[in-house]
Amino acid sequence: MGHDPRRHPGPPEVPSTVSHRVTLIPGDGIGPELAEATRRVLEATGVAFDWDVQHAGADVMDQHGGNPLPETVLDSIRETKVAIKGPITTPVGSGFRSVNVALRQTLDLYGQVRPSKSYKGVRSRYEDVDLVLIRENTEDLYAGIELEEGEAATAEAIETIARLTGRTIRADSGLSIKPISITATRRIVQFAFDQARTLGRRKVTAVHKANIMKFTDGLYLRVAGEVAAENTDIEFEDRIVDNMAMQLVQKPELYDVMVCPNLYGDVLSDLCAGLTGGLGIAPGANYGTDAALFEPVHGSAPKYAGQNKANPTAMMLSGVMMLHHLGERDAAVRMEQAIAGVIADGRDVTYDLKQDRDDPTAVGTSQMADAIIARID
Ligand code: NAD
Repeated sequence: MGHDPRRHPGPPEVPSTVSHRVTLIPGDGIGPELAEATRRVLEATGVAFDWDVQHAGADVMDQHGGNPLPETVLDSIRETKVAIKGPITTPVGSGFRSVNVALRQTLDLYGQVRPSKSYKGVRSRYEDVDLVLIRENTEDLYAGIELEEGEAATAEAIETIARLTGRTIRADSGLSIKPISITATRRIVQFAFDQARTLGRRKVTAVHKANIMKFTDGLYLRVAGEVAAENTDIEFEDRIVDNMAMQLVQKPELYDVMVCPNLYGDVLSDLCAGLTGGLGIAPGANYGTDAALFEPVHGSAPKYAGQNKANPTAMMLSGVMMLHHLGERDAAVRMEQAIAGVIADGRDVTYDLKQDRDDPTAVGTSQMADAIIARID
């Protein structure tokens, strides 16, 4: 299975007697249960933490003048420079932007890392997957530049586009703008090469749709090639996103590190999570120049909220990535081994990790955490 995809260049190794000040955002839905289980396991490694617990999302927006991402949360992360968070619900059609996307954009956490690794005992179609997907976090269709159908500004934009390009957009359209810049592309592709080097990986694959979107994905592909020419110690190739999706399903072993613009990265990382057993075990990290934020790939699964049922593995593995980032490599390895051991045993695991999802011997979130704690060396 090669190298550990969760390693990241962090500050130099520090003795574990140092207390790490970390912002902890429990989130909502299943978030608080997962955050509590993860906090307990992180502390059981012996590493000392000084948690700054901060709340964000719909539940706290009334206390902050309707703002679901209070400035206190951002200030805390600016100070601690490291955060771990549970998922936060984005109410559909509420007009409020995703707190998760806003956090990444406001703090300029431009590089998202989503490892997909096979763990023994997890039901999946493949056994030896070990991929790292790197997603640009700040632009593309996620930039949040949208014009609503029927608005005067939208009609004006449609008219301007017709004048500038000679192309007609139907008058009853909504518009989402897809900016892809040289600056952000250069930064994310260089980040991918740096990650590949640190993780001892051999190849970076840039994913795009340059054959159709020549001025956005075309620019991305051109700049990726330029950055690759400055990083010749690592192999480089590119794939068109639709072909990439098929190839990942047919022969995931051909790929290593992938670097994608925001939207393709979001879609393909769920695909990769599916290759290794699903969202319940898929961790993630968002890195910027000044801060890093660790969070599971999955959302707040409202239907399981408060039931002590959800699988804490994805958030715990995000915690393992955080330990690597903090320089606590020994604790990171011990924590990952304990998680992997409990999953491989298959006894003290949540329902989704059982061979049969209706297995009555499935345990709850907190009991799985207890089993992992008992197993930490
Ligand atoms: P989801 O990830 O919450 O759920 C998708 C499916 O996976 C559901 O069947 C769910 O029950 C299951 N699932 C997810 N995590 C699980 C876990 N730990 N254990 C067991 N089963 C799990 O996705 P969704 O339903 O599309 O989104 C729900 C909410 O979460 C939405 O408001 C969405 O905006 C938000 N969301 C937040 C984040 C984030 O905080 N970074 C990411 C994705 C979605």
